Amino acid sequence: TTADWQRLDAAHHLEPFTDYKELHAEGVRVVTRAEGVWIEDSEGQRILDGMAGLWCVNVGYGRRELVEAATAQMTQLPYYNTFFKSTHMPAVELARVLADITPEGLNHAFFNSSGSEANDTVCRMIWHYWDCMGKPWRKTIISRTNGYHGSTVAATNLGGMRMMHKQNRVWPEFQHIEQPYWYHLGHDMEPEAFALKAAGWLEEKILEVGPDNVAAFIAEPIQGAGGVIVPPPGYWAEIQRICHKYGVLLVADEVICGFGRTGNWFGSDTFGIAPDLMPMAKGMTSGYIPLSAVMVHDRVAEVLIDKGGEFFHGFTYSGHPVACAVALENIRILNDEGIVQQVGSDTGPYFEQSLKALADHPLVGEVRAVGLVGAVELVEDKARHLLFGDPGSSHKMGRVGFMCRDHAVKDCGLMVRAVRDAMIFSPPLVITRAEIDDMMSRFKQALDLTAADLGR
Ligand code: PLP
Repeated sequence: TTADWQRLDAAHHLEPFTDYKELHAEGVRVVTRAEGVWIEDSEGQRILDGMAGLWCVNVGYGRRELVEAATAQMTQLPYYNTFFKSTHMPAVELARVLADITPEGLNHAFFNSSGSEANDTVCRMIWHYWDCMGKPWRKTIISRTNGYHGSTVAATNLGGMRMMHKQNRVWPEFQHIEQPYWYHLGHDMEPEAFALKAAGWLEEKILEVGPDNVAAFIAEPIQGAGGVIVPPPGYWAEIQRICHKYGVLLVADEVICGFGRTGNWFGSDTFGIAPDLMPMAKGMTSGYIPLSAVMVHDRVAEVLIDKGGEFFHGFTYSGHPVACAVALENIRILNDEGIVQQVGSDTGPYFEQSLKALADHPLVGEVRAVGLVGAVELVEDKARHLLFGDPGSSHKMGRVGFMCRDHAVKDCGLMVRAVRDAMIFSPPLVITRAEIDDMMSRFKQALDLTAADLGR
């Protein structure tokens, strides 16, 4: 029974990002199966998955082709490493395909299993690159407040989430600047003017650290787990101007934005970013099997190949053949079914328009959306742009968001995520217009229930 699984789970399983006492008191949800955009639990409740798992099930659940690709590869060659001057066809073929679909010049792939590992690779590769370039050996990597780049030690340092810095102090090699969060930090300015100001924080930080010390800047094209912070127009162009001016490498973390999420293959295509390094994961296999890559630009790879000697870095599962075979089939599906184009020209704009229709709701301060990723920011006072938890607010930040999420999941059968009080959407990219309508009506109901709890 569900209760048996809950008891066993509480006795033996430590889930990630979980308050165990709270979970054990509530009882964990046991998810048993999934199909299309729906998940189902052991009590038979069907839930529309507005988060595509964790921003990853891009082609939706239940795709037999991915199972068959994994089975065929497992039968032929289930595993071999890529260390011993050996390679295998799935890894080589995937590297070639990734070089084809990523922006120009990103022609070299380094494989890992997770987004966090990809970002560890990014750090070590950047330091290796600057070591090859001779003195001064640039070490500082700049990232952004509330950026999320993973949970390994290096990725936690890169990330800008304060609660994640409790266990390990941030190493001095890692520096952070504020996020381009117009609604919260810049609404007294035009978005374009705020974009220049926010990008200018990077230049200030480079000058503070000393340009000869700054190795790289890393950011997500749209900051995902930080609350779906969509950069205001002009932000990325100015960031790139600053990176070029000081010879700082640019890393676009595409772990969420990649593989069609923003209506193009990569968020970098949507925002005109030409990165030196591009970590990616999640949607690469639609989450069916763990795999990540770092795509490396010719201008970096040539230095590593020419001057680097052995790069003392890698993983047992770098370029795992089964994971690569699944990624190849997943990319074929995205391509052959025109899913990326559909997000760009049809379901993405429809989703954006549907989400924007909620802007008049008394709890909604801002709606942000690009392609099939979006957020609805719940606020205490719309006129003053006052977030819950701001000085002068009567509610703790995060409380209202969690209230709304609980109503969505338990009362309305919709999985959404609360990042503080931003309600996050990132549904499978195969979602139809009718399913978007369904998702929105469930969410509207959750908003109304939350407003009723707050006496609005
Ligand atoms: N980078 C970004 C932008 C992410 O959103 C995430 C995970 O959500 C990661 C990296 C870490 O990926 P993983 O959880 O696969 O280690």
